[in-house]
Amino acid sequence: MDSQIELLKEIRNNAKKVYALGTCAAFGGILSLSEKKKAGAISDIVQIDGIIPGCPPPLKLIGNCLIRLIENKEIELSEKNLCSSCPLRGNNNMLFEKQIYKLNPSGDEIMSLDENSNCFLNNGILCLGPITREGCDYKCIEYGIPCEGCLGPVSKDYTSNLINFLSLVNLSKDLRKYKGIFYRFSKPKLKW
Ligand code: SF4
Ligand code: SF4
Repeated sequence: MDSQIELLKEIRNNAKKVYALGTCAAFGGILSLSEKKKAGAISDIVQIDGIIPGCPPPLKLIGNCLIRLIENKEIELSEKNLCSSCPLRGNNNMLFEKQIYKLNPSGDEIMSLDENSNCFLNNGILCLGPITREGCDYKCIEYGIPCEGCLGPVSKDYTSNLINFLSLVNLSKDLRKYKGIFYRFSKPKLKW
């Protein structure tokens, strides 16, 4: 661990630009939830110039970021949430009457993207699309799996996003495991 920190500092001292690639580097990721492991975002250790989030970062996003860097431009990440481009959004008015009571659809519920598809939240299944940055081309949704938030928060103020979201949904008691579910990929402390 100490040697990795030293290496990181050396990279920072010798590089013109340093970007955090992937959600663990950008936000700390799952390991940062551990009480025992000392893990966190690299911006906790050195100053960085930006992030390319994702677990893993989507190829298209990496490609677009690299093109901007080659052109000597800053990386630009979308400031919209995943719902803004989600094909399951349909007529979703974000008024969720059904209780959200499970994390994943069961086998016979796995949705395909057809005209009968509907937002997971309208089916009682937790999807973190409303508080997750778009940029993955809704990869999981495409395979019938709700978003777990790997691209990180759509704004730096993740906790207030989360509180707004929770005020809109009727979340079952079993899913109120905030740290493991809502902070699974990105801890609320963001300093980049
Ligand atoms: S909550 Fe999930 S399924 Fe619903 S529109 Fe947003 S990303 Fe799509
Ligand atoms: S749908 Fe969510 S969890 Fe899946 S790749 Fe996209 S941001 Fe990550």
